[in-house]
Amino acid sequence: MADNSTDYISTRGNADALDFKGVTLTGLASDGGLYVPRNWPRFTQEQIESMRGLDYVDLAARVMAPFTSGILTEDELKDLCKAAYGSFAHAAVTPLKQLDSQHFLLELFHGPTLAFKDVALQLLGQLFERFLSGTDKKITIVGATSGDTGSAAIDAVAGRDQIEIFMIHPHERVSDVQRRQMTTILAPNVHNIAIQGSFDDAQAMVKRMFSDREVNGPLTLSAVNSINWARLMAQVVYYFYAALRLGAPQRAVAFSVPTGNFGDVFAGYVAAQMGLPIERLIVATNVNDILHRALSKGDYSMLGVTPTAAPSMDIQVSSNFERLLFDLEGRDGSTTAARMKWFEQMGKMVLSADMRKKASLMKSARADADEMALAMRWAHEACNEIIDPHTAIALHAARAAGVPADVPVVTLATAHPAKFRDAVERATGVRPSMPQRLGNMFEREERFDILPGDYDAVRDYVLARAVR
Ligand SMILES: *Cc1c(COP(=O)(O)O)cnc(C)c1O
Repeated sequence: MADNSTDYISTRGNADALDFKGVTLTGLASDGGLYVPRNWPRFTQEQIESMRGLDYVDLAARVMAPFTSGILTEDELKDLCKAAYGSFAHAAVTPLKQLDSQHFLLELFHGPTLAFKDVALQLLGQLFERFLSGTDKKITIVGATSGDTGSAAIDAVAGRDQIEIFMIHPHERVSDVQRRQMTTILAPNVHNIAIQGSFDDAQAMVKRMFSDREVNGPLTLSAVNSINWARLMAQVVYYFYAALRLGAPQRAVAFSVPTGNFGDVFAGYVAAQMGLPIERLIVATNVNDILHRALSKGDYSMLGVTPTAAPSMDIQVSSNFERLLFDLEGRDGSTTAARMKWFEQMGKMVLSADMRKKASLMKSARADADEMALAMRWAHEACNEIIDPHTAIALHAARAAGVPADVPVVTLATAHPAKFRDAVERATGVRPSMPQRLGNMFEREERFDILPGDYDAVRDYVLARAVR
């Protein structure tokens, strides 16, 4: 590791520290933990002020540079960001839209697959390419998706020679658009697996493959789920982008984030650690509300998954919550390791009042199906905006949060409404039209295999097909 490079440590305290290149290619730490920077970098108020006029690509390079030092310079990052964000359909990359005098939408869905996952995964594709080129290394990506990560990751790596991707989704629990965005990509390095099980089953299989030496050893596994640090890093940028346009650093801004795996909202927490004034982060969940119960009552316990119209939030365990726990307990890996081991055995844990106090930047809220539909109707009728079900959950939470009137509230719009057009039509009577850039997806051939929700079946499938 270069001396001046930012180093990354595992939340479970028992894996080698890695540099930025190492964490990007590795994903999960060998002790089962997640990588985080050893220290949070911090910008001064003057440094944040000087970011004001920057466009998205220049800002992205500035904000991410402290995380890549020793490995990539700000100029090198800029080139990668130019390539990553050139494919976005809006000149602002993540434009802000005003709804009323207090509420704004941050539209994160102008990438190639219509969800915010593209913001991080288009960059991750560029990073993989950069770190592999000129070597004879090959990586095998295994990922689990509740719908949006899969298509965004496949788009980012399809056709690249040194990368093979296996993407596992829960059979018949993703929307038709989401499935076709993955299964109509016929590049030989893309393998789609539908398992008879839930997203959590898929996520557990992926985690297990990382620690299975019969797989991760013969193959070099890499992660595209938000366990990969580089994804969270890329997502920190748009918090800065929005807040700067609304008056930061002189004025604090609140954000409301539709939350599933806790990656997106954790990126907001990182932005706050870096000095961005954030008034609060609203963690919005649907009826799968483990995070709401944890943050409001200290009860982090698994209750099973109820399928909803916002499938990317239908999660019972949020992997990135471990990164927050690590901070709340004073960044002591052995404490976090013991806590996670307990949780893995018991399916529940309690957050102390002290930990909840330390997490007080985060307020949580839960929206059921009616509240979600009402928020979609309010956006349509009062603001002439069609929004998707995930965004609607966060907008409901934003409007119910009682944020002081002088604080702007930014709701993260995480998916294009066309991606969930049946649910949008049910709530608003409007069927969103498909953006041109998706092409003739409904006429194209699909390729995927259906496997039982069984670890051995999936592992054998991967081992039989991965090119070494
Ligand atoms: C992935 C996703 C979410 C949840 O984001 P996390 O980082 O997993 O919390 C919310 N909305 C949409 C549309 C998504 O694709």
